[in-house]
Amino acid sequence: MTTRIVIIGGGYVGLYAALRLQQKLRTGEAQVTVVNPENFMVYRPLLPEVASGTLEPRHAVVPLRAVLRRSRFVAGSLTSLDTEGKVATVAPEAGPELTLDYDELVLGTGALAKLLPIPGLAECGIGFNSLAEAVHLRDHVLRQLEIASATTDPELRRCALTFVFVGGGYTGVEALAELQDMATDVLAGYPELEASELRWILVEALPRILNTVSDELAEDAVCELRGRGIDVRVNTQLESAEDGVLTLSDGQEFRASTLVWVAGTKPTPLVKDLDLPVDDRGRIVVDETMRVQGRDGLWAAGDCAAVPDLVNGGVCPPTAQYAVRQGRQLGDNLAERVRGGTPVPFRYRSRGEFVTLGKNKAVGEVLGRRVAGAAAWAARRAYYATQIPTFNRTVRVLGDWLVGMPFGHDVVNLDSREQPRDAFRQAAGGRT
Ligand SMILES: Cc1cc2nc3c(=O)[nH]c(=O)nc-3n(C[C@H](O)[C@H](O)[C@H](O)COP(=O)(O)OP(=O)(O)OC[C@H]3O[C@@H](n4cnc5c(N)ncnc54)[C@H](O)[C@@H]3O)c2cc1C
Repeated sequence: MTTRIVIIGGGYVGLYAALRLQQKLRTGEAQVTVVNPENFMVYRPLLPEVASGTLEPRHAVVPLRAVLRRSRFVAGSLTSLDTEGKVATVAPEAGPELTLDYDELVLGTGALAKLLPIPGLAECGIGFNSLAEAVHLRDHVLRQLEIASATTDPELRRCALTFVFVGGGYTGVEALAELQDMATDVLAGYPELEASELRWILVEALPRILNTVSDELAEDAVCELRGRGIDVRVNTQLESAEDGVLTLSDGQEFRASTLVWVAGTKPTPLVKDLDLPVDDRGRIVVDETMRVQGRDGLWAAGDCAAVPDLVNGGVCPPTAQYAVRQGRQLGDNLAERVRGGTPVPFRYRSRGEFVTLGKNKAVGEVLGRRVAGAAAWAARRAYYATQIPTFNRTVRVLGDWLVGMPFGHDVVNLDSREQPRDAFRQAAGGRT
């Protein structure tokens, strides 16, 4: 009988599990269905480069239908799960809900920004987790430069040129560093503005930034950021953002037109409605083979799950490095299940990591050795060039990098695409 495998989430876990199943299973052994709201997988480590315009947004994603040719793809979101009857309910973008019967089901729904109850944060802030946010931030920063250069109001000018990022993990550090690098690069085209007027502030509640990497690597990153005039404030918290006025725990109060909240993530909200065992951070508890205990045929991995880390102890960190390997191992384990074999525990030892800080700038650690500057930047690019799924995407990303080498950042701000009907509405005299 054909085994019905449903994979919820087409991110790292979902895509790599499905690719592995396509590779391992013969036709007729299983029917694999992948459910994801969008028909592409976001290659999130490349989002900071999308934000700085170094990469075309479309090149930083993987088209799921094109790579999952031997699987069924459903554009939709899981809304509920009957683990007894083994039925998943999925809401497509339009129309009635679908029910998918399964024998094995994988949850790889990832994580979203974790907001704290800070007054004004939800109204004024933005996250940095999705393609839309990365694209928006690029246009937003360029728009602030235009606002500041056109206004005669000094307060508005100061507010437009103040960019605050809360959260000194690698997402916050990379996003801030890439955007600051872009803004500095395009400034030559704004004779009305002085470089010293742009304020970039990184706020971190802990005593140090990048707390998942070594002290030395974090110190290298701080030196680079401070050397570029970025105000790195550790042991500091955002207390309020009411009406666009930011209040920090060190007593400072100022207006800022840009507030990016990158202070941690939490599993997608759906997870807590599924009545599954979760840990104190809301992650689905799984065993070392990534099976949810007590629920037959249910598996989970990636940022939404607490996968035991058999190498370092504790739980695997929420990174793409781990999620890719968990996805592949899940594919292997599911193929074993289809053939009546035994699933294998997940075990992975990280070989290093990189933090990009802008063009020709990065810090990293490979096999215990520290690298910095252009060498780290080139090594990071070489690594990602070999990791991006499909030859097509690899070539497009390499093309963007190559074309970007001799040229500066592009200053074109396309934020009008966020209101594409404005011109039409105007033509209709405001009647639509
Ligand atoms: C800006 C940024 C930079 C990063 N840089 C790095 C880096 O340099 N190195 C590194 O190792 N890690 C990095 N990470 C972390 C890494 O991207 C994540 O750990 C990884 O994406 C987790 O994979 P996942 O499969 O669990 O989730 P994701 O890749 O987030 O995929 C989850 C998928 O599930 C879908 N989904 C959610 N809810 C539902 C639902 N109800 N039904 C169906 N589908 C659903 C989502 O739309 C999404 O497509 C970065 C993250 C960000 C945001």
